[in-house]
Amino acid sequence: MAKKSMKLGNGRVRTLGRWKFLVWEKLSRLTRLKAKNHCQRCGKWKETKKMQAHHLVPKSQGNYARFCEDNIVSLCHYCHHRWWHGQSVWEDQRDLIEKWIGLTRYQEIKFLSNKRHSYTEEEYDVMLKDLTKRVKEIEAEGEVV
Ligand SMILES: [Zn+2]
Repeated sequence: MAKKSMKLGNGRVRTLGRWKFLVWEKLSRLTRLKAKNHCQRCGKWKETKKMQAHHLVPKSQGNYARFCEDNIVSLCHYCHHRWWHGQSVWEDQRDLIEKWIGLTRYQEIKFLSNKRHSYTEEEYDVMLKDLTKRVKEIEAEGEVV
């Protein structure tokens, strides 16, 4: 059975759920920072906290889709709502997918997610350190709100 937690250097224990939360928090922020707070569908600018990080292949499909950097785009509230409830939902979704990753990569992410991909806590730790470093680098450039 997989262990449910990993001891940190300082003796504290972090649960798997906590790892996922922390990695997602950084990944979401990085996505919005990379887009410089612009909506990747309509191009509108909003403050970071008002932009939403969105999964092209839904995160419910699995951990690969959930934590795959190129599967995540920055959307404004309007475009995020439209993704799920638009008049011609698939046409809208396909346009966005083609613009950012292409249908081939989209299918690949779907395929890998369906293989019940899971990460170890050590892998989450590596992801978290890398994301934290990259978020800090962008924040240090000083253009973020
Ligand atoms: Zn938008």
